[in-house]
Amino acid sequence: MGTRHGLPDLAADEWKDAERLAAALNERFGHLPAREIVAVAVDLFREAGGIAAISSFGADSAALLHIVAEADPALPVAFLDTGQHFGETLDYRDQLAADMGLSNIVIVKPRDEVVAADDPDGVLHRSNTDRCCAIRKVEPMARAVAPYRAWFTGRKRNQASTRAAMPVFEAVGPRIRINPLARWTTHDQAAYMEKHALRQNPLVAFGYLSIGCFPCTTPVQPGEDPRSGRWSGKAKTECGIHLGGLETVLSPSA
Ligand code: SF4
Repeated sequence: MGTRHGLPDLAADEWKDAERLAAALNERFGHLPAREIVAVAVDLFREAGGIAAISSFGADSAALLHIVAEADPALPVAFLDTGQHFGETLDYRDQLAADMGLSNIVIVKPRDEVVAADDPDGVLHRSNTDRCCAIRKVEPMARAVAPYRAWFTGRKRNQASTRAAMPVFEAVGPRIRINPLARWTTHDQAAYMEKHALRQNPLVAFGYLSIGCFPCTTPVQPGEDPRSGRWSGKAKTECGIHLGGLETVLSPSA
């Protein structure tokens, strides 16, 4: 590949096979500290299909963004603007980007025609959260990552039982999803925020420890699972943007 961190033991066809590529990347780089994983991945994928970060600018987003900014402040950072976010989150997005010198925030919105047809009054979340997430998050997410071979998330294994076995490098269709903070604990996250004096989403001070859309996010009590404030009272635990099958919702024109 001609990169500083090249994969000389991977033949060209192996590089094209995302499952084998993810396995090789985990074996070689998965044990590294988050900062090195980000540096390696930026180096590798910048020359091989492109790489971006995805951020919700939520409660835990600042650490990954700080690491990304250190590696390349011009790296694309996609934000899914569902149209249902807290105003505080939108302000935080802009403030954090300015703090860190992130110069390429890519705002991805739901398709106007789909929202007009399926959720013209913005209340679909009351009757069908899965469909609402599908049109406001999952399809835009697929469009957001379509231009790249790989993308970073800030997900951690300790955030949910569905993430307990999450690898650092994952194949998603032909693409690679990278979770540099997979092994981080709550303490690691807090210590990094403090060490680098990172700005916190103001909603955290009000008990919002996992922040998504306004209608589907509630504060949690001290000691409660942070993600229990997402779709509280419903069986739903994930919006779908991180689940398998994301590639199947990519529209042909995306
Ligand atoms: S989190 Fe709630 S408001 Fe946001 S897209 Fe999903 S269902 Fe709709």
